[in-house]
Amino acid sequence: MSAFKCVILLSISLITSYCFPVNAADSSFSVLEKLLSKSTSHTESVQTLERYRSDLSKWSVLEQARFYIKLADHQTELSQFAEAEENYSRGIGILTPLGASQPLIHALTERSYVRYIKTYDKSFYCPDRVLAAEYARELQDQDTLVKALTQLAFCYNNRAQFESGLKLLQEALAIAYDAELTPNRIAMIYNATALIYQKIELNAEAYHYLLKAYQKWASVDDKIDMLSMLHGLVASAIKLGDWELADKHVEEMFALANRSPEHTDFTFFAYFNAGRAALAKRELSTAVEQLNVALARQEDTAEKFFVWLTHATLAETHLRSGDWEQANEQAEAFLANPNISDDLGYWKALCEAIIAAKIQDGQTALLKVLSIADSERKQKIDFINDAALRATHSHSEKLTQFENQLLTKEVEINRLALANERDQRKIAYLTITVIVVFTLGLSAALFFLIRSRRLLQHRAQTDFLTGVANRRYIMEQAERIIDRAAHRGDNLSVILFDIDHFKRINDTYGHQAGDKAIKQIADVTIGSLRPGDILGRVGGEEFLVVLPAAGQKQALEVAERLRNAVACHPLDMNKQKIQVTISLGVSTLKSDCSTLTALMHAADDALYQAKGAGRNCTQVASQPQLA
Ligand code: GH3
Ligand code: MG
Ligand code: MG
Repeated sequence: MSAFKCVILLSISLITSYCFPVNAADSSFSVLEKLLSKSTSHTESVQTLERYRSDLSKWSVLEQARFYIKLADHQTELSQFAEAEENYSRGIGILTPLGASQPLIHALTERSYVRYIKTYDKSFYCPDRVLAAEYARELQDQDTLVKALTQLAFCYNNRAQFESGLKLLQEALAIAYDAELTPNRIAMIYNATALIYQKIELNAEAYHYLLKAYQKWASVDDKIDMLSMLHGLVASAIKLGDWELADKHVEEMFALANRSPEHTDFTFFAYFNAGRAALAKRELSTAVEQLNVALARQEDTAEKFFVWLTHATLAETHLRSGDWEQANEQAEAFLANPNISDDLGYWKALCEAIIAAKIQDGQTALLKVLSIADSERKQKIDFINDAALRATHSHSEKLTQFENQLLTKEVEINRLALANERDQRKIAYLTITVIVVFTLGLSAALFFLIRSRRLLQHRAQTDFLTGVANRRYIMEQAERIIDRAAHRGDNLSVILFDIDHFKRINDTYGHQAGDKAIKQIADVTIGSLRPGDILGRVGGEEFLVVLPAAGQKQALEVAERLRNAVACHPLDMNKQKIQVTISLGVSTLKSDCSTLTALMHAADDALYQAKGAGRNCTQVASQPQLA
């Protein structure tokens, strides 16, 4: 590169950095976060973080806390517990003065976990959980609170405090179900519940909850926790004396280890559990074999507690097999553990007894064995003394569960009953509505049907001009009435009448006026008839009257009354009154004149005679007509 080019590039970089100064603090932390998000392994993440440690002083306190906690998270994953604990402590130190926050609760919970793994000492790892739960309550985030409560409950898994522990777990479970939290959270609660039951020797309950936790974790294929549950399930099955179950879970552990090569410690745990199950069954050579394989793989696990426990278990196995040398060796290995917790009291006494026996210190050995016997006896006494307490607890818990179930069922039943009632009411309303609508519709349809039928019938029977019966209808009716009267021998007469000189009216006043005249005469006639008499228009201006029960005399009277009525009612013709008359012929039912045709013929003849006689008069049929 030429000197000139160098000068140019240098100037550009100087100008750029002057115009766009980089905020080192902001940019380096966000760059770090970006790098971390791309990182593919925990080792890589730790290395990346360490590279940026020198930038710490440029960052805000929150960023510094986040740096330490992130670093600790990755170190925990890599089982670098001492470093992780230190970094969590730094993060906690920075965040505590700022009050409750997610990162603070996270750091406390994780530090507690690291401390638990390191020591199994409650006095060491529980204070962090108490704090985490307090902060979580302040924060009011359900997931965080459930996690914190569950972690804290582990601290109460002893005889004195188990009620508090179960209470915390009950609270956590209620929140978890309410907030529909993940299977992980619920599994954690079941696991914690199981551990408490284990401590108070309610082994069946412990097994039950471990299985529930295992199933929850299996549902999300959380291998680490599945293994942890299987480990507990083997222990519980051994306590219950159920070898079949113990073997089943050991097999499941091997299967899980096989499909999880990334978790090298799984195989260690599978062999360890196979060994202790074999010891429980007194299959001593198998137990020695399995436990030795576990020990050979001890580097695979960071949980040294179980390595020590393997030594102790192996010591007991050798002792029971009569192999003093080996028993002594394993006892020494176990006792090399610098901090043996109270939980391991049995193993400590046993190993010490083995060693004492080895060096021919019979008295110490016996005393150790006695101390084991004492502690076992004390445990038994405690167990018996606590039996009532456990029974009450178990009973009250079952009762609460039962009551809760009942309550839930009752609520559900009430809800269903209410819904049912609502549905029933809806159905009833609907049915009524349907019936009403249907009935109304049907009634309307029927009404219109009947009305239109009547209308049609009326139309079919009525003469459109006068409104009296038309020819067809009066003939039908007349025939029926005449037949009946003839049959019964009742009186009956008919009158046939015709308007006189009607052509003249038509001619003089017009056809419409003629129609009006026909109508008016029909009206006048109707007004002069009795109920039961029937009037019908049988021709242009010709009418038939049927008079049931009328003999000749009455019929003549009626005919005259009609004639007079018409004659006395001048018609209104274009504001002009005109006199109209009718001529009438009467015929009466007789044995030789007993049909409609005969009666009509006779009446028609009589009418013809009346016309001939000068009109406006009535003639009675004299000569009987043959039907
Ligand atoms: P008569 O006294 O002999 O009965 O004489 P008339 O003129 O009434 O003769 P006829 O009874 O034979 O004639 C009836 C006339 O009535 C014939 C026809 O033009 C008329 N006519 C028939 N039907 C109707 C109708 O519905 N309306 C009108 N305006 N006229 C009709
Ligand atoms: Mg006529
Ligand atoms: Mg006429």
